[in-house]
Amino acid sequence: MEDCIFCKIANHVIESNYAYEDELISAFYDLEPQAPVHVLIVPKKHIGSLDETQEEDSALLAHIMLKIKEIAAKEGLEKGYRVVINTGEDGGQSVHHLHFHLLGKRAMNWPPG
Ligand code: AMP
Repeated sequence: MEDCIFCKIANHVIESNYAYEDELISAFYDLEPQAPVHVLIVPKKHIGSLDETQEEDSALLAHIMLKIKEIAAKEGLEKGYRVVINTGEDGGQSVHHLHFHLLGKRAMNWPPG
């Protein structure tokens, strides 16, 4: 996707501050962190949102979840963390490329805003 900012970051067309990368996914620090640790994890393949995932994305989604656990450990989030996938308008999604927010190093509130 030519105009997708997260495609550009994930494929190094635009450089970012990366926390992790492999052939399937990229993780980089959020520009406007909402917690002391705020990492965005995105697939390199363009998928608009969680709502646009398909059966064929099952292995990719499982890979992301398992890597989030590793990134959380690398970031020192042994006390816990929150993973958020804002989806669509009501979900508060502002970038139309599937991404997982990994938030940590502070206590989270419930219910979320
Ligand atoms: P969402 O509102 O769930 O779509 O989240 C989008 C997130 O991307 C927000 O937390 C933004 O701060 C973050 N963001 C937008 N552009 C960039 C960028 N170029 N580099 C890093 N984070 C970004």
